[in-house]
Amino acid sequence: MTTDEYCWTCDADEPHRKLEGPEQRWLKNRLGRAAVNEFLVCLAPGCRNLRTGSNKRPFPEPIRLPVLD
Ligand SMILES: [Zn+2]
Repeated sequence: MTTDEYCWTCDADEPHRKLEGPEQRWLKNRLGRAAVNEFLVCLAPGCRNLRTGSNKRPFPEPIRLPVLD
């Protein structure tokens, strides 16, 4: 399921979805956090910027989710 949210790196409303299991594990490791349930990934081609449901810019620099197998 996707939801349209604003992506500040695209400067547009784009579809986003919640992270899947391996992606959540990657982000937990990246941030050193126990839970990352609030994060969404931008699905615009080539973007994969991360935001949360309430914060369009949770990090000063973009964190882009890698493509995981
Ligand atoms: Zn984007």
